[in-house]
Amino acid sequence: MQVFEKNSTIFKLLSDAVSEGIIVVNEKQQIVAANMWANDMFGYDDEELVGQPLQILIPQTYRKAHQEHIQSYYQKHEKRRMALGRSLFGLRKNQEQFPLEVGLNPFSLYGNTYTMALVIDITEREKIVENQKMITAALDAALNGITITDALQPDHPIIYANAAFERITGYPTEETLGRNCRFLQGQDNNQEGVKKMWNAIEMGISCRVQLRNYKKDGTLFWNEVSISPILDGTGKTTHFVGIQNPITDRLLAEQEIGHLASIFDESLNEIYVYDAESLLFVNVNHGAQKYTGYTLAECKKLTPLDLKPEFTETSFRKLIAPLLDGTKEKIDFETVQRRKNGTTYPVEVHLQSSRVNDRQMIIAIILDISDRKNYTQKLEKTVEHRTKQLEKALETEKELNELKTKFLSLVSHEFKTPLSGILTSATLVGKYKKEDQQEKRDKHLNTIIGGVHHLTHILDDFLSMERMEKGKEVYRYSKFSLSKLVNEVVYNANMMLKSGQHISYPQNIDDVSIYQDEKIADLMLTNLLNNAVKYSPEDSQIDLKVDIMMDKIIFQIKDLGIGIPKKDQKYIFDRYFRAENVLTTQGTGIGLNIVKAHVENLGGKICFKSTEHKGSTFTVELPLER
Ligand code: ADP
Repeated sequence: MQVFEKNSTIFKLLSDAVSEGIIVVNEKQQIVAANMWANDMFGYDDEELVGQPLQILIPQTYRKAHQEHIQSYYQKHEKRRMALGRSLFGLRKNQEQFPLEVGLNPFSLYGNTYTMALVIDITEREKIVENQKMITAALDAALNGITITDALQPDHPIIYANAAFERITGYPTEETLGRNCRFLQGQDNNQEGVKKMWNAIEMGISCRVQLRNYKKDGTLFWNEVSISPILDGTGKTTHFVGIQNPITDRLLAEQEIGHLASIFDESLNEIYVYDAESLLFVNVNHGAQKYTGYTLAECKKLTPLDLKPEFTETSFRKLIAPLLDGTKEKIDFETVQRRKNGTTYPVEVHLQSSRVNDRQMIIAIILDISDRKNYTQKLEKTVEHRTKQLEKALETEKELNELKTKFLSLVSHEFKTPLSGILTSATLVGKYKKEDQQEKRDKHLNTIIGGVHHLTHILDDFLSMERMEKGKEVYRYSKFSLSKLVNEVVYNANMMLKSGQHISYPQNIDDVSIYQDEKIADLMLTNLLNNAVKYSPEDSQIDLKVDIMMDKIIFQIKDLGIGIPKKDQKYIFDRYFRAENVLTTQGTGIGLNIVKAHVENLGGKICFKSTEHKGSTFTVELPLER
């Protein structure tokens, strides 16, 4: 110890210049010298340690073990570091333990053996190691893949990959280290993101890209990769940290949401979302904007009440109340919707409630039902029209049946007289056998012929009427000689003349041909002449006049007969109507009715003038084809 005391100044000077703690012990394990750093480290004053046993610098729990080491150390007596690979601890004066590293250097001086221990307080270093361990553990615990690449080596090899990286990619760490990250892209390296990332690496800046990456088993996954450079003190990029975030699920979810959003927007139905409290629209789809003519921005200032003229705020809130208190899941109704331009259209509305972040919303899906309404209205009209047609057909059928019944009773009545006349005359003709009785025979034969004509006339009327009723009557136009027709009609009418009656008819029609329906013209003239004969007394004159003009022909039949009572005149063309002054004369009341119908169907008209006891004049006008 004296040796060191003697030379303490020299030792001090030398040992303080060394930046490690130096403690020298003798064979008895007594401290003979300690430099400034050692005193500082253990918390002792200058020289305080000298003479103290080394043990005071060793924590109680390690003292025994230390003693054993010392023994073996002295046996080997070599220069070495203590406790390699193990943690050593020192004890400060204040009893605080701290980690240290010790290097032992034995030496001999003046026959004594000493050991110089170089002591380093590794508290800070341990802290750093601890920290690094913690960081590594944290990196390994991270859910994102983390890699560190060395930017100073060619092709930037991976020098660190955490556990999550292995989990995400399926590549074990040993297969990852030393490789460039591009192996994750396989052949699929022509990607926008890849280019962007290499660009960022080149420029030494950070970036975030989405890449198509492939796991070891070949499965594709979308990887959101963020890279950031690590710079050294001079600003040079030494490493890149890469963070891998597999986002396949998120992308799929985003795609799904995107798809749903486009369905919402592209739907041709109108879809509205509005706040249940303020009723203001929050969102409306494209269809709603198109149908109403409002833009989204305009809609956001409106409520459903602006579009639904049939509701007041009170009635609307009452309508949606069951949705809001949960008593109903859905409300459907029909109403009208008003466009921006004020026009309206019928709609079917479906309402549902929905919650978005504690805010209650109403979703309205609205269908334009104009077409459906139009279709229903059209259908209703068609049904109405058909019903009318059926009613008319039924009516006609009924009338026809009535007509037949009436005709049967008419026939039985009307046919009786002419038939009995024909029978009587036929019987009498047989009795006039003598040659000079020809005049009498002719008289009876004329009665028979007249009777047959009368019956034929009734039948003609009836058949014509029935055909017309059934709509089967087809008018047949032809060119025919007017004089031939008039002669035939007058000839037949002459058969019915009473004694002294005379029909005068025009002679100016000899070479006239007209284009008309000959049968109808015949039916019309026959009826009117027969009536004139029937309703005029004996010895009276009947006039038939014909006026031919450019586009029409006018017939006039004038008699000096019983005339038609004023009060009956308006019913004269009604079917079966007969005036009260003719009830003792035979007739059916259908002649004038069918004549008027046919004449009008041909585009002509019929009228009359009549005074009771003086006579009647019937005028018929028929159009002519040029
Ligand atoms: P009817 O078989 O009874 O003659 P019409 O239809 O030909 O049937 O005539 C209808 C009614 O019109 C007759 O019943 C009669 O009362 C009246 N009438 C028609 N023509 C004459 C006429 N020339 N003079 C008087 N009355 C007529």
